[in-house]
Amino acid sequence: MKSYFFEYALLPEGWSQGVRVVVAGSRYVAVDVNQEPQSEDVSKKVVIPAMPNAHSHVFQRAMAGLSEYKTKDNDSFWSWRDLMYRLANKISADELYELAKGVYQNMLDAGYSAVCEFHYVHRDLENSADTLKMSKAVMQAAHDVGLPMTMLPVLYAFSAVGDAPLNPEQKRFELTADEYIQLSKELNCVKFPEQRVGICFHSIRAVNKKMMEQVLSALPKDAPVHIHIAEQQAEIDQSTDFHGKRPVQWLYDNFDVDGRWSLVHATHLDEAEKSLIAASKAVVVLCPLTEANLGDGIFDMPSFISQQGVWAIGSDSHIELNPAEELKMLEYSQRLAQQQRNVCCDEEQPHVATWMWLKSVDGGSQASGLNTNGIKVGEQAHVISLDGQSGVVGAANHESILDAYVFSDHVIHESLLL
Ligand SMILES: [Zn+2]
Repeated sequence: MKSYFFEYALLPEGWSQGVRVVVAGSRYVAVDVNQEPQSEDVSKKVVIPAMPNAHSHVFQRAMAGLSEYKTKDNDSFWSWRDLMYRLANKISADELYELAKGVYQNMLDAGYSAVCEFHYVHRDLENSADTLKMSKAVMQAAHDVGLPMTMLPVLYAFSAVGDAPLNPEQKRFELTADEYIQLSKELNCVKFPEQRVGICFHSIRAVNKKMMEQVLSALPKDAPVHIHIAEQQAEIDQSTDFHGKRPVQWLYDNFDVDGRWSLVHATHLDEAEKSLIAASKAVVVLCPLTEANLGDGIFDMPSFISQQGVWAIGSDSHIELNPAEELKMLEYSQRLAQQQRNVCCDEEQPHVATWMWLKSVDGGSQASGLNTNGIKVGEQAHVISLDGQSGVVGAANHESILDAYVFSDHVIHESLLL
């Protein structure tokens, strides 16, 4: 057992002073406030909980920063996707393991507490009948560096709404519903103790209602369910043309979407869809840096905040691995859209970084289904220490130090597995 004393710590209920924690086997077994330090304690000044990473395609790290040149007049998500497919069709299981190991170590060092891996490069390069080897490579990589994982094998069967056949460059991702259920059962057998296996549909473009029903009824009822939704206007148009409904509306009309579900991106919503998501307590997983990089659009936070919507962040294509930068991008996109400052907060918590950090840890923990909900008994003991002193920040209080960590480069920080 190890013990620590924090002058200030961000607990799920807010900032607390004199926080003493005891850790056994990487989990908190005691968290007490208003304490005095004991001689055996390791002391830190200000700590915040590490952040669950609610959306990752780990292989895309290999192209981070390498698609920043014009290929056609109207470059978009779709032209970026062509480059991504080229990478996805080249990577072997051994290369994926090595790459993932490095990326997951970077995530731990950046202060991410866990990863939800949205994995669709299923078929082995040498033997396309083997759909397990690539999954095992990423699960082994996460285990080897000590990053808890929610493995999300992706069901991917069509190239567009209306069961359009896959294009040749998408064939490596292809599974039938039966193959998917089989793979999920195999993954549940090979997973490590700190991992769980969720259910994942690529998007409403890539699966149909019947397949989703078959998978949901065959697999555990408590598994987290993830899906990309409404990231691009083209998906809205396909859904409206084929189903006569927008994607989120179609999803809610056909499935009991609740807090077990994570809707990744959900960028383009109408007011009714926003209300449906907020009321259902499904998690909207925002990937602010990737969404900005791809030119997706801006999620409307003010309306979602006013309806107490649940949200989390993910580093998605891993253009950067830094939870503070993700939150800064999210808040800045709102400021630019609203022509206002300090948007992501409420009357109770006017400090933007504190408000955003607590909400995204809570939402990310819900999305992962892992014990990553902050500094609390039973949860994983991983914090970011903001002990660094410098100029303005040296004199600031704990709330302002967290604001400065997210919005400036003053604060020296360190990811600590306790
Ligand atoms: Zn994604």
